[in-house]
Amino acid sequence: MKVVDCPCGTQVEGETDEQLVANVQQHISDDHPEMVGTYSNEQILEMAQDR
Ligand SMILES: [Zn+2]
Repeated sequence: MKVVDCPCGTQVEGETDEQLVANVQQHISDDHPEMVGTYSNEQILEMAQDR
């Protein structure tokens, strides 16, 4: 399980790197549409923490 703590306070989880990236991109498009395209997949994985 990997988790990214979004600055808005939401914790976005994913079982795999691929799922985590997909979930974070989905969260950004749902809650932060102005930030779509801001983060690359590599940047998202750098922010991820193992839980
Ligand atoms: Zn957020």
